[in-house]
Amino acid sequence: MRIKRVAAVAMAAALTLGMAACGGDGDGESGSSAKGLVGKAQSQKKLVIGVKADQPGLGLQTGSQYEGFDIEVAKIIAKGLGVDAGNIEWKTTVSNNREPFIQQGTVDLVIATYTINDERKQKVNFAGPYFIAGQDLLVKADSPLTGPEALDGKTVCSVTGSTPAKRIQTDHPKAKLQQFDSYSKCLPLLENGKVDAVTTDDIILAGYAAQDQYAGKFKVVGKPFSSEPYGIGLKKDDKAGCEKVNEILKAAAGDGTYKAAWDSTLGKSGKAAPELDTTKLTNCGS
Ligand code: GLU
Repeated sequence: MRIKRVAAVAMAAALTLGMAACGGDGDGESGSSAKGLVGKAQSQKKLVIGVKADQPGLGLQTGSQYEGFDIEVAKIIAKGLGVDAGNIEWKTTVSNNREPFIQQGTVDLVIATYTINDERKQKVNFAGPYFIAGQDLLVKADSPLTGPEALDGKTVCSVTGSTPAKRIQTDHPKAKLQQFDSYSKCLPLLENGKVDAVTTDDIILAGYAAQDQYAGKFKVVGKPFSSEPYGIGLKKDDKAGCEKVNEILKAAAGDGTYKAAWDSTLGKSGKAAPELDTTKLTNCGS
């Protein structure tokens, strides 16, 4: 009898604890008990955001400053979460450490030309997409290369852990792939003829081609051969955080802040701001 009562009390306690654990788990809107991204933003008023540091127009670091379209999108998301731009800690990421940075909590968000795909969705959650890029080739201005089908036997430079490098391996296995940790390392090799092409998203390549130091030297082939929807990466179980980020993107599409982010960065090249199609936002893993 006594044993039974002790067991019952223990069970009730376990149940209460279990319920408390469930209650706050990833649910963003319940005031101060909010967990995950929303909870951290509310309680600490700061965020750590993983971005690229060497991609002009998108994520470029000069001294302690970061600038580019991804940086502006990050500021919009932070603001929507109640965090001032000055309270964002920028953390440089490379393509290959984005999932581990999110999984290990090194960063709260990744906004870094980060393609949403099923393989990555096994490890992280994605809000967005906020932009759709496409894989392309950067070649010397006088190169006869016309597209990925012409890469057989040619040397092509890309980045470890990126979708463009994977696509070369699977779809164009006769190309000789050289991989580095970031795309900017490919550019001197292209300039001095050590590689025949650099491959990644068209919007990234366009940023390199437009840099003063390479003026007139390179061209983007201009025939994109994939779809790269850029997402905002966060912890896999943080559905509420993901939904909140999508909500913020939706608002930004409607109130002109998304367009302003484009116009002040990539739009400076004269390219009109893309439409952020809010009907295509992810379902945050549900
Ligand atoms: N969007 C592609 C990816 O996420 C290429 C750009 C990058 O490596 O950041 O892999």
